[in-house]
Order: sequence, then structure tokens, then C-alpha cells
Amino acid sequence: MNALDRSTTWPYDERGEPREFYYQRYGHPVGAAAERALGALDGGQALLFPSGAGATTALVLALLEPGATIALAAGAYFGTGRLFERLRAWGLDVVEFDQTRSPPDGVQLVWVEAPSNPFLTMPDFDAAAAHPAPFVVDATAATPVHVRPLERGADFVLHSATKYLAGHDDVLLGAVVCRREEDATRLRDFRTTTGIVAAPDPCWLLLRSLETLPLRVERQTATARELARRLEAHPSVGAVRYPGFGGLMSFDVANGEVARRVETGTRVITNATSLGGVRSVMETRHRWEGDRVPEGLLRLSVGLEDVDALWADLETALTRV
Ligand code: PLP
Repeated sequence: MNALDRSTTWPYDERGEPREFYYQRYGHPVGAAAERALGALDGGQALLFPSGAGATTALVLALLEPGATIALAAGAYFGTGRLFERLRAWGLDVVEFDQTRSPPDGVQLVWVEAPSNPFLTMPDFDAAAAHPAPFVVDATAATPVHVRPLERGADFVLHSATKYLAGHDDVLLGAVVCRREEDATRLRDFRTTTGIVAAPDPCWLLLRSLETLPLRVERQTATARELARRLEAHPSVGAVRYPGFGGLMSFDVANGEVARRVETGTRVITNATSLGGVRSVMETRHRWEGDRVPEGLLRLSVGLEDVDALWADLETALTRV
């Protein structure tokens, strides 16, 4: 295991020169180790940030200048859209597009999600790669176990490492994985200067979690596939959105009132936000996202519990309504 070194400063060498680590904002040993591990998984150069939203902010501000436009996948994580709306005050523009088709012309950055949260659509990687602007894939819900965007033409991968990568609902962390060394250098310099840096403790927890990432995600996929299949056949369930891999899905029940009863009616599945943890959570998304999602949409993040225990829990909650 890596030691958890929390130092903010390290001595210079005997000639009075900085060694590899000298001040924590520039880099620290456990962060560097976690970045090597994640970079190997995604096939690029990883940089960690204090949250997924922090990683998004740093990437956009490091890459773009005032006057630039971002093409954002419609139906992507609503927090990313809100963040970009905030950045209008700094001169950035944002337009939404259907990520299953080609991005619009005249934009300086293309931002897609694989799969989108909570609509679970997949982007057209070839169309995004053919666009002249740099192309970012938020692969939070897929993880490198299922999708490695740099191999499919992306320039950057974004992760809310808070979710599957850390996986235990006890770490807030984000990551950008860069395809090119020069982009990583530019982003690292921006990170150091602005101080949007991840502390050693969450990086250490990420390292711990990466050791079990494939095991967790493969099991979550197997369970989610089975639950999606059973939900599709349930008379109280309308659309089931599931891309065929990963632990995240969403499904519709009749309306908001029914959805509220279902989300509060489970006992194994916790009624809470977020996703990617070892315990299953479910919530209606209308409460956060308003009319961009159906009132009856429930988002389910499948954990590591027994599939039949989860199904019995869901079935009871769906039958009670
Ligand atoms: N991207 C996706 C797809 C997310 O689901 C989230 C959070 O839910 C984020 C980014 C933001 O990550 P964080 O909450 O770690 O800032």
C-alpha cells in the first residue's frame, strides 16, 4: 500500500534544489500514485481535482478563452449544464445538441457523456472525433472498465471519481485524463496556479478503491442487466433506460406521486442521491432537474447487494403503489 503522506512541504535536496515533491499544491506522492493508476486504466495522463465539478471547471477554463462556445450533449448531467451556464458571466457560451448525432459547427469544445445521466444515451464517438474542436467524454457512469474514450478519438476523459472510481460514497473527487502530454502540462499548470487541487486523503481512498474497480463494476453490470430485464416486464413500469453495461439505469412509473411512493418504499435500496457506490440508491430526478426529466423518472444506481434481494425490494415498492 502507498503511505499517506499529508505533508504540504518537503525538504530541498543537499544542493538546495527542489526534489520531485516540494509544495503540496504542485503535487504530492499519493496524488501522483493515484494519477498513475487511473492514467493506466484510461490509457492517458490523469490529473485529479477536488470534485468532478472542479475537474470540469478547470478543464474548461484552461482550454477556452472568453468568446468560445461549448457544444454540450442534451440530457447530460444537469450540474454540468448549470456550471456552463454560470460560466457565461466569464464570456463562455453553451449550446446543447443531440449527442447521438454530429456536434454543431462553429464551437470550440464538444462535451458528451457516455452514457448520459440520467437518460443513458451513448454519444456518436466517430461524429464527435470528426469535429475539429477538442472532444471531452464524461465517462463517469461507464468507467474505463466499459468505455475507454481516448481509444475512440476523445482528447479528454472526465470522471466524477466520487462515483464508481472511488465507489464507497466516502470520497469527493474528480479527474481529467488527457490524451496528449502537452494538454496535461497545460492543465497541470492551470491547476497549480488556481489551486483547484485534490488533497492526499481522498487520493489515498481512490487508490484503495481502484484495486476493486473491475470486480465492483462487473458485478454491478451483471445485477443491473438482470434488474433492467425484470423491470421491462413489470406492468407498473414504462420506459427502462439502460445501455447494456454499468450499474446505472433509469425507468419511468406513472407519475410523480407514484415515483415518490416507490422511492420511499424500498428498504434494501436507499432513497438518496449520487451513484456508483457499493450500496444501491434510487431517487426521482424531477426534484432536482425539473421538467427536463419526466416526473415519474426514477434513477437507480445498482450496488453489490444480491440481485434477488434487490428485485424483491423493487417489486414490493412497485406493487404497493
Ligand atoms: N459528471 C457526472 C456524470 C455526474 O453524475 C456528476 C455528479 O453527479 C458529476 C460529473 C459531478 O461530479 P462531483 O459531484 O464529483 O462534482
